[in-house]
Amino acid sequence: MDIRLLQTPIVYLKGVGPNRAQTLQSELGIGTYQDLLNLFPNRYIDKTQYYKIGGLQRSNADVQIIGKIINIKTVEQKRGKRLVATFVDETGQMELVWFRGQKWIRENLQLNTPYVIFGRCNWYNGMYSMPHPEMELLSEHEKGLKVSMQPVYPSTEKLSAKGITNRVINKLMQQLFMETKGRFSESLSPHLLQELKLLSKKEAVFNIHFPKNQKLLAKAQFRLKFEELFFIQLQLISKKLLRKQKIKGYNFDKVGPLFNEFYANHLPFELTDAQKRVVKEIRADLGSNAQMNRLLQGDVGSGKTIVAVMTMLLAIDNGFQACLMAPTEILATQHYNSIRQLLEGTGVSCSLLTGSVKQSARKPIHEQLENGELRILIGTHALLEDKVKFNNLGLAIVDEQHRFGVAQRSKLWHKNDIPPHILVMTATPIPRTLAMSLYGDLDISVIDELPPGRKPIKTVHRYDSNRLKVFQFLRDEIKKGRQIYIVYPLIQESEALDYKDLMDGYESIARDFPLPAYQISIVHGKMKPADKDYEMERFVKGETQIMVATTVIEVGVNVPNASVMIIESAERFGLSQLHQLRGRVGRGAAQSFCILMTGHKLSSEAKTRLETMVRTNDGFEIAEVDLKLRGPGDLMGTQQSGILNLKIADLVKDNDILKTARYYALKILKDDPALEHPENQTIRHTYARLMKHKTIWNYIS
Ligand code: ADP
Ligand code: MG
Repeated sequence: MDIRLLQTPIVYLKGVGPNRAQTLQSELGIGTYQDLLNLFPNRYIDKTQYYKIGGLQRSNADVQIIGKIINIKTVEQKRGKRLVATFVDETGQMELVWFRGQKWIRENLQLNTPYVIFGRCNWYNGMYSMPHPEMELLSEHEKGLKVSMQPVYPSTEKLSAKGITNRVINKLMQQLFMETKGRFSESLSPHLLQELKLLSKKEAVFNIHFPKNQKLLAKAQFRLKFEELFFIQLQLISKKLLRKQKIKGYNFDKVGPLFNEFYANHLPFELTDAQKRVVKEIRADLGSNAQMNRLLQGDVGSGKTIVAVMTMLLAIDNGFQACLMAPTEILATQHYNSIRQLLEGTGVSCSLLTGSVKQSARKPIHEQLENGELRILIGTHALLEDKVKFNNLGLAIVDEQHRFGVAQRSKLWHKNDIPPHILVMTATPIPRTLAMSLYGDLDISVIDELPPGRKPIKTVHRYDSNRLKVFQFLRDEIKKGRQIYIVYPLIQESEALDYKDLMDGYESIARDFPLPAYQISIVHGKMKPADKDYEMERFVKGETQIMVATTVIEVGVNVPNASVMIIESAERFGLSQLHQLRGRVGRGAAQSFCILMTGHKLSSEAKTRLETMVRTNDGFEIAEVDLKLRGPGDLMGTQQSGILNLKIADLVKDNDILKTARYYALKILKDDPALEHPENQTIRHTYARLMKHKTIWNYIS
């Protein structure tokens, strides 16, 4: 059918009008016919069954009943008015209740006329009641399109307040199918349809909105989910292929003296097999003539730093400079310190550039960077400033990627004519399914093995009421010479309260761990950087035994002697944050502990998080649970949420479909990268259209 018809503004659909059009736009983002068509139901209700009031069960979910209203009245209550109707059939009576929209309902409902009602029943005051039932006159109901499966569309409070109920959406959908005659053109190739036995586009779209039966619904869902994931994968993979073909990279073909000398004489420990494998993968990239764009995943403590150093040495051996960018000053400084230590005796020059480096100290850095004397620059966002000019940047390493916006990452690209090789390191394990979608255009390496000899951290959950015991445990650990972190939540929305908690906590700890026997550091975001550094330093040097902090210590801090991590109000932290915090301990030889403190009142989700933390130290397993609990959008933080605004597929539940989609996208692009073969024409057209209308999800740039 004419594609342009689907681009018609929704206001022109019969039954919409300017008011509804505006509400549809603001509440559901529906601006065109196409958008409405792509409003997929959240769930379906089987309305083939009719219940009798006398036969209702207390646990009945959604039910459909035929009966009449015999009486309607307004009931005043302290908490407000409600409208209550008595609804009867030949087996009994029940109540229908409205809290909102009472005037409209009162004016429009007809007494003693058969209705079909639908909704969830509650058992209340010795009677069944149904709040805000869906209602339809029996006579209308019998006239209506006979669908056995009733779709339930996403809704909002405002939509229902404005009378755009599920039934209205359903009607609009019918209207849309009438106006377009349901002739939607095919978007996948005949080959794919055949091989995967997919429904045609037309059948799929019809059955997603008006399913004839369960089986057709399932097939429709599969087809549309596949399609959605397929075109995303097509985009990601073709980007990657394009990059490999077109974006020339510096060729680091030499494995030179620095790398070899370092490998032979400077390695402070033997690399784990995982580290060796990753270095090999990186070396293959660097010598391939194409630009490297690789994501290096490795749990906290898995040893990413040394991999970064060896990669930088490869760059320097080939005559290039390298930089490493970290999200916070603390982290950048720590990288700088540990990398300088690793490089000792190699003669490689290395500087630190952060926001707090003084202007006078910056000048020589800028100069040496530009004339090429300086080989390695480590720092924060300060590296991205225009004043920072490299002589020949060949490699950029970005640590803790999820904290940087995409735009920042691509800014590194434009520091040179030929883009430097990029290695993104993250300690936040990303479940494979998510990685495939979010970073499908990157190559991925994983360090899935911890250095030998680590004792797994013991994690326990303790209630606030057991605090005294916990404190006694802390005294014992301190007596053994260990150091302790105590972390408080700090959430933007409740910042003032959280600071109070932190300060109260600090005071009570200061009372229980008095001077001079105990020394306590405190670090939080409201302190001046200099004060923060001072307190941090004292803890790093072992002058203080306890570090009270907010999550500023989440990333990067490395104090091997710290062996206990106490997390206060642990129920308020997300899983990945808990895991990151726990990673601050377990870095030395001693047995380490993580104690999750909470009150007694816990949501079931919080319980799952705590149980998961107690059960496992495996970051990937934790990430999988997190993904299931929170969904992919939240998982990546607000910065990137919305990236995964999938319309119908679900990255967690539709893992298998995702794999299938990726498999076929890969296969098709391998044989036909530009989609030129006649059999791929449909796919090419659909893809071009999706790109043009930006309906394809704007992933990583
Ligand atoms: P990450 O950055 O991945 O969290 P680091 O690179 O900071 O981890 O390494 C954590 C600690 O483990 C460091 O003290 C480091 O020296 C040590 N380490 C790294 N690799 C090994 C190894 N192969 N054998 C022994 N210790 C290692
Ligand atoms: Mg690190």
